[in-house]
Amino acid sequence: MIHAMRDVIVAANWKMHTTPVDAGELALTIASRTREPSVIRVICPPYVALAAVRDALAASDPDVGIGAQNVHHEAAGAYTGEISAAMLVGLAGWVIVGHSERRRDFGESDDRIGQKLGRATDAGLRAILCVGERAEERDAGEAEAVVGGQLRGALAAHDPALLAAAGLVIAYEPVWAIGTGRTALGSDAALMADAIRGTLVQLGWGSAAEDVPVLYGGSVTAANIAEFLAEPTIDGALVGGASLKPDEMAGMVARASLTARARLGAA
Ligand code: PEP
Repeated sequence: MIHAMRDVIVAANWKMHTTPVDAGELALTIASRTREPSVIRVICPPYVALAAVRDALAASDPDVGIGAQNVHHEAAGAYTGEISAAMLVGLAGWVIVGHSERRRDFGESDDRIGQKLGRATDAGLRAILCVGERAEERDAGEAEAVVGGQLRGALAAHDPALLAAAGLVIAYEPVWAIGTGRTALGSDAALMADAIRGTLVQLGWGSAAEDVPVLYGGSVTAANIAEFLAEPTIDGALVGGASLKPDEMAGMVARASLTARARLGAA
């Protein structure tokens, strides 16, 4: 069943690409090629380019959401080189938490990711929580259990009503699909979206679980996004590599607008 009210979102994770000098112009180009009011667009540049992207978009396309790629789990303190949620206010309205590259490279645990989620939502940032299994876990038939464990670890300590009100988004990103050119099957991603909402119900979310947007991420491009958006339980994409290319973003958002308009029409 199509859930008429769920947002359709295309979020760009620029990772460690662009500089403050070129990020604003790239954001402007992407914004001008993706003007589709039915789709929520979010651009997540590196921290140091947040201000440049904000300033570039402020006059021409303030509807584009701006996100950080990470946030610290404490509110303030002796954490050299780190960025708190409060520091992001005014620069970003969104934040990615628990990306698999941070789990892998910085040992971020589910518990730590849950703390970040709390800091983000307390500061009024809309969080995109990333979850996803590794290849060996999928091969062992453990994908749903792994993702369920990640969700329980990050969410159990939080009041579902608060996270729901803060507009939590969940991105299902199988680790083996990120940056590899391999994608999940749309049908597998859809099954995982069901499992994710099932876990939210177990965590006490009740009917609010159905309102949580679930994105697919992992080698999404303009050529393959349709496979995911054809699934009624999938609400958009979190995109890495292809999100740096205006042509790709234009194609992905154009396809997303078909889904978004169909949902609005069904509302
Ligand atoms: C990501 O960084 O979240 C991602 C999905 O990357 P890519 O699209 O490059 O696989």
